[in-house]
Amino acid sequence: MERVGVFICHCGSNIGAVVDCARVAEAVKDYPGVAYSTDYKYMCSEPGQEMIQNAIKEHNLNRVVVASCSPRMHEKTFRACVEKVGMNPYMFEMANIREHCSWVHAGKNEEATEKAIDLVKMAVSKVCKNEVLQKGHAPVTKRALVVGGGIAGIQCALDIANNGYQVDILERTPSIGGKMSQIDKTFPTIDCSACILTPKMVEASSHPNIKLITFAELEKVDGYVGNFEVTIRSKARSVDMSKCTELIIISRCYYGSVSPFVKMVEDRAISYIHPDFVIRKGEMHHKRRYKNTITLSSHFYGENITDIEKETARELLEANADNYDGVVKGIYFYKSVEELEGIVL
Ligand code: SF4
Repeated sequence: MERVGVFICHCGSNIGAVVDCARVAEAVKDYPGVAYSTDYKYMCSEPGQEMIQNAIKEHNLNRVVVASCSPRMHEKTFRACVEKVGMNPYMFEMANIREHCSWVHAGKNEEATEKAIDLVKMAVSKVCKNEVLQKGHAPVTKRALVVGGGIAGIQCALDIANNGYQVDILERTPSIGGKMSQIDKTFPTIDCSACILTPKMVEASSHPNIKLITFAELEKVDGYVGNFEVTIRSKARSVDMSKCTELIIISRCYYGSVSPFVKMVEDRAISYIHPDFVIRKGEMHHKRRYKNTITLSSHFYGENITDIEKETARELLEANADNYDGVVKGIYFYKSVEELEGIVL
């Protein structure tokens, strides 16, 4: 049988000037499970804690709710307080009626009081479902997975790795670097973004504690803090050409832009066609199927492709197509899915 003690803290005027604490205590007095309810000026003070301990003994309470500040501030204080008189510390709950109520609803006393009543009722309902817990030790795998290899992910991985822990960076594209690798300058210092990013990319890729898992996506996360198990799906990096009866290579148009980033990737495209372009048999990003078709799709698309760039791209694709054990039926450039349909279907 639950016997919950509810203690509403004024925190001086922090809560008391907005929330009618006496009314909150009165409102939850008859709420299911509540055996005792009161309010006090400073619950975390010594007299406040003594008040809780005395009430536990006098009213035979087996659960306690304190409505006051954030658990981050005083959860430990109150857990220790109830433990001193023999109550399991996990039979204690806090309702935050300061940061989540009086501070954010200053001047709206009536609404804040109603909200405080709701917050306390929720905490009472929760504590009624709490079970006695015992502290224990569990083995923890000291290794981290950072999902996303943009600048934030890279920095996060470096911080962890430099503290001596193993880190895996999971990146869905073929390379780490993210959006920052596509912009010229960073705000507000107008620094060259590549000057900031590239040293970190190099450091991450050569760090002994960091493993890069690129061109792969997170499918499932199981487990709990310290013992997570994740399922990662690696995307295909090659095609079994022996299974192809004919080959059509279709490349999305290259940007006409001459930005250094695009140029860099174009230059690297020769070696990237096979491993890092998305190559799928009969399947595009949007899951439509095209029979007997291999699609090469890249990040490059746009309106302003020039004839010279088209020719360069064609040469690159043809040069690589020679390596395939198939027949190149044609090389097409397209700007939209609709256009692709016109070519293939
Ligand atoms: S318990 Fe929190 S809300 Fe209450 S007086 Fe102490 S600091 Fe203020």
